[in-house]
Amino acid sequence: MSDTSAIEWCDATWNWVMGCTKVSPACVNCYAEVSTPSRTMGIEWGDQAERRVARNATFNAPLKWNKKPWVCDRCGWFTNDIDNAHVCIGTGPGGFHRRRVFSLSLGDWLDNKIPVSVLARALNIVRLCPNLNFLLLTKRPQLFFSRMSNVAIYRDIAGKPVIDVDWVNAWACRNEPPPNVWIGTSVEDKQRADERIPELLKIPAKVRFLSCEPLLGPIRLPLTKPKPLYDAEYGDQHEYAEVPNGIDWVIVGGESGPKARPCNIGWVRDIKNQCKAASVPVFVKQLGSIPIIFGVDGPDGCDKLMVCRVSHTKCGNSSEWPEDLRAQEFPNAA
Ligand code: SF4
Repeated sequence: MSDTSAIEWCDATWNWVMGCTKVSPACVNCYAEVSTPSRTMGIEWGDQAERRVARNATFNAPLKWNKKPWVCDRCGWFTNDIDNAHVCIGTGPGGFHRRRVFSLSLGDWLDNKIPVSVLARALNIVRLCPNLNFLLLTKRPQLFFSRMSNVAIYRDIAGKPVIDVDWVNAWACRNEPPPNVWIGTSVEDKQRADERIPELLKIPAKVRFLSCEPLLGPIRLPLTKPKPLYDAEYGDQHEYAEVPNGIDWVIVGGESGPKARPCNIGWVRDIKNQCKAASVPVFVKQLGSIPIIFGVDGPDGCDKLMVCRVSHTKCGNSSEWPEDLRAQEFPNAA
């Protein structure tokens, strides 16, 4: 658990459980598996390993954050009273936003090896914290409905549900998603985009987002879809307009760490340009530890290593990037 977070697009991370199983190429150098908490606690990865449930203080931390939900855009200061808040003299856009709580950074909330009792407890915390925005990211969006169904029917040892079942059913069955939940899926390449985005779009959500990180190849994102225009004279539908497809935000970044794979900044630029063309907010997080420029002659006669790691090993200092990549936007959600 962390009251603050080093991840640029959230204000806090909430790891109510730790441990996972690798499911795709993005998982090869899984940060969570080698993170300090995982190593010091001896947490094992894989289907046969038990997931580690957090202590109560960590599990229930959002209940505390919920009492001070507003975060200064400039300095990260928390308050529950923005009407009487100080005028911050820091840099950045002015104003306050609801605390963005990312979960999980050390696992996957739809991992079906997490006991359903634990998932139900976690979702109950989400339900009890309406002042926060929970950013729930998964590589398993196809499991949403089955996991929610399991949560809805789960009963504790006394035969009681641990969460308001109507809240679960409203979300999963009646298309009434909780207003404080953003649902995201990770897509690192074309195959994962083709597999996971259609599953994400089935999930009722106030905000849906994509995390294209670590970006491992070019991806064409379905940010819009064609809508037939009805022809009143002929009753024909022979013209189409491009309309939003239900994706509200895109995060993109290259891989970091000692075993990072190269990220072609042309892939990052292409995703950023797709978002701009579709009017979808985009957050370029980092260019990764090995950013390359495709098609520019480098020492080996092919791709060139981009020189932008002066102050940041993951090339996360946007002032070192080409100017057109400096986009760090958020969706319009209170
Ligand atoms: S889904 Fe996430 S936490 Fe799980 S193995 Fe993959 S990268 Fe690691």
